[in-house]
Amino acid sequence: TDTTLVSDLTARLRDVPDFPKPGITFKDITPVLADPRLFGRVVNAMSAPFRGQHVTKVVGVEARGFILGAPIALALNAGFVPARKPGKLPHRSVVERYSLEYGSDGVEMHEDAILQGERILVVDDVLATGGTAEATAKLVSRLGGELVGFSFLLSLDFLEGPNRLGRERVTTLLSF
Ligand code: AMP
Repeated sequence: TDTTLVSDLTARLRDVPDFPKPGITFKDITPVLADPRLFGRVVNAMSAPFRGQHVTKVVGVEARGFILGAPIALALNAGFVPARKPGKLPHRSVVERYSLEYGSDGVEMHEDAILQGERILVVDDVLATGGTAEATAKLVSRLGGELVGFSFLLSLDFLEGPNRLGRERVTTLLSF
């Protein structure tokens, strides 16, 4: 295991106060992504708990879930599916609305993105309230997928996301 990952990540994550709204401290992962060794260690650590679990598709949540989800999909020999903000996907889609830490939004997937019985891992960078991930999980189940779990780089535990999603299904490298 990667024993210094937590401290290396803590040193490189950037807290941006009052973004995108007053009172929100934005967890900026771009310094982590810019370091190829650290980025690789993150992808490995976020994939590791799900190796051997026969994940067939990784669903990445727009937008930073795309960046992490695509290499995690390849690491798990799985396909990649984007879960997007409503109105961006070109083909017939299904949508779920939800409220989040800053504002309200929705998440949308192509209706043929997941086949009946496929084993799905949902990936994003930050777990805050869990609203986005919960809506994504609802789409997965509406399309007939079986949710294997959620993998986040970090979680803001004071917002109760892990409780909302079910702790046993949630993996995070760091929590605040
Ligand atoms: P939530 O639905 O409340 O769990 O919010 C999760 C979504 O909003 C994720 O896609 C995150 O990337 C983003 N997000 C929420 N809070 C933060 C934060 N404090 N720093 C960075 N991203 C955040």
